[in-house]
Amino acid sequence: MTSPTTPATAEPPRAGQPLVRISGLHKSYGALDVLRGIDLDVRPGEKVSIIGPSGSGKTTMLRCVNFIERPTRGHIVIDGDLLGQKRVGDRVVDLDDRALARQRAGIGMVFQRFNLFPHLSVLRNVTIGPVKVGKVPAAEAEARALALLDKVGLASKAHSYPEQLSGGQQQRVAIARALAMRPKLMLFDEATSALDPELVGEVLGVMADLAAEGMTMLIVTHEMQFAEDVSDRVIFMDGGVVVEEAPPGRLFHAPEHPRTRAFLSAVL
Ligand code: ADP
Repeated sequence: MTSPTTPATAEPPRAGQPLVRISGLHKSYGALDVLRGIDLDVRPGEKVSIIGPSGSGKTTMLRCVNFIERPTRGHIVIDGDLLGQKRVGDRVVDLDDRALARQRAGIGMVFQRFNLFPHLSVLRNVTIGPVKVGKVPAAEAEARALALLDKVGLASKAHSYPEQLSGGQQQRVAIARALAMRPKLMLFDEATSALDPELVGEVLGVMADLAAEGMTMLIVTHEMQFAEDVSDRVIFMDGGVVVEEAPPGRLFHAPEHPRTRAFLSAVL
């Protein structure tokens, strides 16, 4: 299928290049313009939190970054590769499902709802991606999964089923599952919003560990203190645009834009 989006400017990966480059991103649903021109670079190892009022387009933007949502206009380049599309001669065409799955394997996403496979054990939830998509031998996938479950504090639950776990435990499995694909980028879409308050901390703890290890992370969150603690940069979105972006100390304590100030005074 020929793409209606703007031509690609994807370049081969180069040292010093951003890991993520979002250029002129627009997304509309019918007459509703949800994203109205987003430009954002994320450097390797950078942690960027995205905050803003409900309905401002945060989730939609994140979903575009792994092509769950297809941009209406603009494009996204991940590690030098145009996301979801490729150049053929002077045309830009959509990747086939297989190529898209391979590309998505490098982008881990953690959702508000944990989305584990209910009929599979915790261990199988974590191994299924590497085995099916990554063609990793089962024994190796299992060893990797057990190490990741250990890392998120759930080695003892490997043979449990999702319904036997708390929400916080399920979300930690979801993080392990995403990490099993050895992603270069992790996307978190309100990963703690569906959790009981007492379970939020254990998930944020795993996310903070990951941040400390140098993972590149794009985090949509309502947890302002967490965003302040782990982010290199915070983006405030409203009405489908980036209104303000700054290091967390400045964005939270000396915001420049009146809309940022109004939002923060309502939530802090
Ligand atoms: P946020 O994450 O900032 O709360 P969203 O990205 O979830 O915002 O949503 C932004 C707007 O897009 C909302 O008005 C929402 O209703 C609308 N929207 C999101 N997904 C769809 C969809 N699949 N179809 C139609 N409208 C959508």
